[in-house]
Amino acid sequence: MGQSDYLREPRGRFSGAARAVVLPGSTAEVAAVVQYAHAHGIAIVPQGGQTGLCGGAMPDQTGRQIVLNLKRMRRILALDPVDGTVTVQAGCRLSALQQAVAARGWWFPLSLASSDDCQIGGNLATNAGGHNVLRYGNVRELCRGLEVVLADGRVWSDLKGLTKDNSGYDLKQLFIGAEGTLGIITAAVLRLAPRPAQQALTLVPLPDVATAVQLFGHLNAALGEAVTAFELLSTFSLDLVTRHFPDLPAFPRTGRPWCVLIELSRTGAGADLAAALADVLAPVVGAEALHAAVTAADRRQMDRLWAVRNAIPDAQRREGPSIKHDISLPRGRMAPFIAEVLPLLQARCPGVRPCIFGHLGDGNLHFNLSAPSGGDAPAFLAHREALERLVHDRVVAHGGSFAAEHGVGQLKRGEMARYKDAVTLDLMRRIKRALDPDAVLNPGKVLPEP
Ligand SMILES: Cc1cc2nc3c(=O)[nH]c(=O)nc-3n(C[C@H](O)[C@H](O)[C@H](O)COP(=O)(O)OP(=O)(O)OC[C@H]3O[C@@H](n4cnc5c(N)ncnc54)[C@H](O)[C@@H]3O)c2cc1C
Repeated sequence: MGQSDYLREPRGRFSGAARAVVLPGSTAEVAAVVQYAHAHGIAIVPQGGQTGLCGGAMPDQTGRQIVLNLKRMRRILALDPVDGTVTVQAGCRLSALQQAVAARGWWFPLSLASSDDCQIGGNLATNAGGHNVLRYGNVRELCRGLEVVLADGRVWSDLKGLTKDNSGYDLKQLFIGAEGTLGIITAAVLRLAPRPAQQALTLVPLPDVATAVQLFGHLNAALGEAVTAFELLSTFSLDLVTRHFPDLPAFPRTGRPWCVLIELSRTGAGADLAAALADVLAPVVGAEALHAAVTAADRRQMDRLWAVRNAIPDAQRREGPSIKHDISLPRGRMAPFIAEVLPLLQARCPGVRPCIFGHLGDGNLHFNLSAPSGGDAPAFLAHREALERLVHDRVVAHGGSFAAEHGVGQLKRGEMARYKDAVTLDLMRRIKRALDPDAVLNPGKVLPEP
């Protein structure tokens, strides 16, 4: 990689200039860089795999900041088979960690479409979620310990990996989801899980979002923890994959505007999961939808179905300009929100093509908008501010969040100012001042100007 690769996000929306890009190889080297920066009043931008895409890992344009990428710190430090944990350096890529623990007979449940690029430190800094949140939680729930270089260059380390420790404040929680504004994560202890022994994966067409939410309730009641993924996919988003990735399996056309991708997993032996899934589906979705469902028969077909799901962001990019929102809502508000906001969007930007998909099970959706077919890109993008305002206003009115997945970075600082209440912002600013009084770590990110 050349220096410029660290200064421009892969999708090009954010870029910056830097005094230096440093690639430390150890916690001691990270600490030395931060001590130097602290002593000289230089700001540091921690950087992982640059998949956050909110400008969080980009320096500003002054050329005075240091970018600190952790990619050289990629070692697995220990795997504890008794506690079921792995201790890993923060620059390890997520897929590399998944493969390393799988080789030892374990499974790391965090799974994102960006697994080949993102780093564990970045996952923790953004509290990443992904496909398996329903059963295993966000990475916050998978984290048992952290090592962090603080803004003055000291190292805070708690890598004991205890399940329970009530001796004072749980400090690691401050750094998880802080997007590098409170400390630089250099290592972590993460909880592993036994590899699922049995899985079932089905893609089912549905008439509306309310049915999807209802179906989730039935599945949850009948199969509980066995439901490991429940993804809502608009038929439009699947059509984009078919158009731009013809080698991936095409979903048969049913005329229904929505699908759900349901994954069940079980670690021990038990009744056939695919049969249990069909039993719950039949009364809710009806025989016709069940007939049109695509069920993976083996591991290879499961991977192919997941590949379709994971190809949606790239398919949308190939389709042309888009305006993206990553939102979360209480599950019960999903259908009313979507029913309310779609006509408002059409009224504001006739022909706009919503590309909606995501982790319905945990209330987290990509509510993306593609430009009208054959439309003029600059004309569409001129609507960006108005459409973002419309979507986020309605999300917040329905009790949701405007930043569920990619974090705030630079992109959503304005939304923080607009939607966060004064007490919340005051508390966040006090925490920032307490841990980083000289604004050495990732200034200009997350928190809006006072
Ligand atoms: C195709 C795609 C699919 C995705 N799917 C999901 C999904 O399903 N669920 C989900 O939650 N997210 C998803 N994401 C976004 C997700 O936030 C990122 O993939 C990932 O968690 C960020 O890791 P990264 O290493 O790329 O961090 P970067 O993008 O490099 O950085 C993100 C932020 O973390 C900070 N940071 C990075 N490393 C450290 C560190 N060691 N210490 C302190 N701060 C640090 C940076 O300063 C920046 O503010 C997806 C992204 C893409 C592109």
